Amino acid sequence: MRVPSLLPLLPCLLLYTLQSSSVFSLSTDEVFFSFQINELSALNRLVQHLQLSIDSIDVATRTVTAYASTENFQALLEQHPQHEAKETGSPSASLPSMFDVLSLRGSIREAQKSLSLPKADSSSSSSTSAVVHSLQLRQRPSETGEAPVMSDKLTATSDVLSAYPTYEGYKSLVRGLAALRPDLCRVEKIGDSVLGREILLMRVSGDANDDKPSVLLDANMHGDEVVGLPLSLKLVQTLLQGYDSDARLKSIVNSSVLWFIPLRNPDGTYAGGDTTIRGARRFNSNWLDLNRNHPYMLMAEGPPGGRPIQTENEVFLDFVRTHNFTLGVNMHGGAEVINYPWDSIQERHPDDAWWRRVAKKYADAAHAVDPRYMSRFDNGITNGYDWYSVWGGEQDYMNHFRNTRMFTLELSRPKMPPARMLPFYWDRNKEGLLGFIEEAAPVFESLKGEAEGSQGEEGGAENEILP
Ligand SMILES: [Zn+2]
Repeated sequence: MRVPSLLPLLPCLLLYTLQSSSVFSLSTDEVFFSFQINELSALNRLVQHLQLSIDSIDVATRTVTAYASTENFQALLEQHPQHEAKETGSPSASLPSMFDVLSLRGSIREAQKSLSLPKADSSSSSSTSAVVHSLQLRQRPSETGEAPVMSDKLTATSDVLSAYPTYEGYKSLVRGLAALRPDLCRVEKIGDSVLGREILLMRVSGDANDDKPSVLLDANMHGDEVVGLPLSLKLVQTLLQGYDSDARLKSIVNSSVLWFIPLRNPDGTYAGGDTTIRGARRFNSNWLDLNRNHPYMLMAEGPPGGRPIQTENEVFLDFVRTHNFTLGVNMHGGAEVINYPWDSIQERHPDDAWWRRVAKKYADAAHAVDPRYMSRFDNGITNGYDWYSVWGGEQDYMNHFRNTRMFTLELSRPKMPPARMLPFYWDRNKEGLLGFIEEAAPVFESLKGEAEGSQGEEGGAENEILP
């Protein structure tokens, strides 16, 4: 299960590759890196050509962080045989996790030709003439910081934010929560990952009737963005434990159907082994980004790039195509922001005003606890495309094909904060999550008033603007 870490070897390997045009001979793995780009408008073509998985973009500095499989990263390096290596000796003291390895000016000049990217200004100095420069390998988020506190003994009545669950601990906790209140919660396995790990679904509602406002909450499709997993379980536990004593929680559980998939990509999260999230990976075990692997709204026949729908997404699609959801939350990490549709097109969503109101409501709830949390972007919210475009993502798939108002919830700047920080993130998101779930009822009633059967039909019907 464990794959060898390339990081300590990469600087040497890269320079060796540059000098000899040799190829990586180690096992496939995931490479995390950053670069700066002079023209952000050229990024989309670069991404498509090199199959990079963009993680985030700092628009102010035009710094892009991205993932790639070793094969695709190698392809990036091999675009031109005469790279100009820039050695910086030992890693910077101020940035100990980075290695400033090389500049790709030669490679990118070649890419400019093949991609018809904007030509560099010939009057520019050589240091600024590249479209892409300052490529830096970065330590994977799952391999930085202190070792994660893990537990296989979390129970339905214990503090589920005291540790990250092991894989076995996760499964027993999910089943324990269902056993705590079988009248309110049931669990089922909806499929297996590529490596055979279980993908579990939890349904929370006051009865068996599915014809109610419904919300789908899923997490960890990027396996190294782990905060959504314990927060999902904490939300389920809060609803079940508070049902009898808290009128608001009882109302939410009785009036809606909540579906949880807390671990969308178990092979990514437990890539380092079932007992730890150390070594977690963004990709699934085929080294593909599940959030670039859904049917795409502008290419109904399949995901971008012609890559096959991955097993984990087949499981997900089989489930969501047979159920209707009013709203959805797709949990990620690496930033703190409410990212609302669309991700892949500049055009505004038909319900853009609704989205901006609901996103602001969520951010306001977080700011009431901590004004410094979710304080970047437009005070904690952003249109997805305005941040960076994503093709084949779950959010746009659910909005476009399943008529589900799903947004991307970026929970934490560190993708893998220590377990002792989990209560920090729960405190700042509890009210936002409950408040968002309560938005399902008016949307459900509004859609019900429209043509019968319009909700949730595959085929691209978008939501109408609420009155
Ligand atoms: Zn993510």
